[in-house]
Amino acid sequence: MAENQPIHIEALNPDCCNQWLYQQDACLTCAMCASVCPVAGVDNYDPRKMVRMVSLGMVDQVVQSRWPWICTMCGKCEQSCPMGIDISDLTRKIRSLREGKHVPGILSKGLAAALETGNNLSLPKEDFIFILEDVGDEVAEEPGLEGFTVPIDKKGARILTTIHNKLVNTHTEDLKPWWRIFHAAGEDWTIASDNWEGTTWGYFTGDDEAMKVMAGRIVENMRRLEIDTLLWPE
Ligand code: SF4
Ligand code: SF4
Repeated sequence: MAENQPIHIEALNPDCCNQWLYQQDACLTCAMCASVCPVAGVDNYDPRKMVRMVSLGMVDQVVQSRWPWICTMCGKCEQSCPMGIDISDLTRKIRSLREGKHVPGILSKGLAAALETGNNLSLPKEDFIFILEDVGDEVAEEPGLEGFTVPIDKKGARILTTIHNKLVNTHTEDLKPWWRIFHAAGEDWTIASDNWEGTTWGYFTGDDEAMKVMAGRIVENMRRLEIDTLLWPE
């Protein structure tokens, strides 16, 4: 789809996949969604208006606007909507109608890097392991956590956990609470050294095929390490 080229509802598959276009018709325009939305007002974003525009067939305008990219897809509005309209899912569907090259840069770059290297930072495996072990050493210096080590690629562990990319980049301190809890609970857990990223880039960009690839890699890690429980804290 070229930029500013209209999207016609009729051009979409009418058989199975367009129910989302009509669910918005149930909207009462009560604005409960807007009242709880943490980003309502940013660039005049209003989830109620977005729902109404889709309901009125103005899908083209919504797709070309910034609004679907302002919504954080947090799902808070869904909890308040008396009609159960899933605006985060609507946002994902709208995002999927944007041509890849017009997806905002940080998301398209993150997705491309994650698909190519297994994580959006393009962090080499040895650097990833170094960071985990370095933070693990700091945890081991805490009272009661002497001897702590980070179990990497532990075959047969009970839980495999994914890692949000920022936890091995700018927020390494945020790894520690997870690990303290695992330790206190006596949990048998591990982290995969490849394809460890839990950030759902495919979901954020509305790219279901990319999401399948990333989820498939996590499943493959579980098979390889013979683990049947996944903790995916994204
Ligand atoms: S899902 Fe989007 S519209 Fe709904 S509350 Fe979150 S940011 Fe707002
Ligand atoms: S809360 Fe639901 S019914 Fe009310 S305006 Fe928002 S989407 Fe429409």
